[in-house]
Amino acid sequence: MAREIVSPEQIDMESPGRRDYWVALGHTSIWGSHLIPLTVMVGPQAKPGEGLVAFGGNHGNEYEGPVAIKHLLREIRTEDVLGRLVLVPVLNVAAFRVSARESTGDDGFNLNRVFVEGAGTTPAMAGITHRIAAFVRQSIWPHVHIAIDLHSGGEVARFAHWAGFFTCADPELNQRREQMARWFGTRIVTAGPNSPPGGILGGLHGDADHLGKYAIGTELGYGSSADVRGVRYARQGVLAAAIHHGLLKGKIEPIGHYADGTQSLVRVSASVAAPYPGHYEPLVECGEKAAKGQTVALLHDFYRLDEDPFEVVAAMAGIVVAQAWRARVEQGQLIMMVAEEIG
Ligand SMILES: [Zn+2]
Repeated sequence: MAREIVSPEQIDMESPGRRDYWVALGHTSIWGSHLIPLTVMVGPQAKPGEGLVAFGGNHGNEYEGPVAIKHLLREIRTEDVLGRLVLVPVLNVAAFRVSARESTGDDGFNLNRVFVEGAGTTPAMAGITHRIAAFVRQSIWPHVHIAIDLHSGGEVARFAHWAGFFTCADPELNQRREQMARWFGTRIVTAGPNSPPGGILGGLHGDADHLGKYAIGTELGYGSSADVRGVRYARQGVLAAAIHHGLLKGKIEPIGHYADGTQSLVRVSASVAAPYPGHYEPLVECGEKAAKGQTVALLHDFYRLDEDPFEVVAAMAGIVVAQAWRARVEQGQLIMMVAEEIG
């Protein structure tokens, strides 16, 4: 199978059939381009402006999404595709190349913070990371109404596997998003409000949400590994969304915590920031319940060796959904998040 190198303008999102592309975005250093892998499959019932996109590699050191989508590229048969599917196994190729969260080998930005006004369209924001955001906005958003952004913790945090969505004023939209998130099968489904449009912490998931898309974000592992369950949940969530929205033929059965009724719908409610640089010692696993006031972790200061450690306390009863992954943490880093069960 030949993967064709094209400019964003040459991508054909409309004709029936399957096309495998390397989408070329100009390189600012070497004579050449960054090549983003993108596959589009269009079936006979595809409607203008409707389709599903799944992204892996928004951050370049999170691997469950890229691995799951790479499998799906071989598993999904073109003849089973009814609508439009867009699969991008690695979105930030500049970060993925150097196994980093940010595009450290290039302009150094975090792709999931550059979906801001003017990204990739103004001279001050013309590096590769901002131009990837512009590419998503200009070449992908107009063709899809469902967006799945597959993340995991990388080197920063460990998570109870979760799929999450932003809540809005429309109960039907909330319900649809919740169902999409539940079908991943993760232990946790997170729900919470998006930040207002026009902010400076522009994430991809938030950008899709502001456009009214059925948008889901995930945290499917940590430690820059390819987590067994994380890959399985990623594959399942993408397939289920495609099948349930009539974009792909097939039947799918629930898996994991959705199948056995042990899934928790939560609202991320309280987090703790490290008051000083130190070493983080969890006392509970992610996914465990904590009582209000319970010490769930300790932050050690090895330069004040004989002092008591800082106690990381759950400010409310709930589930510990995220903690620092590396023991060494920075001052101000969010080291623990507890979420309130709402369903
Ligand atoms: Zn991420």
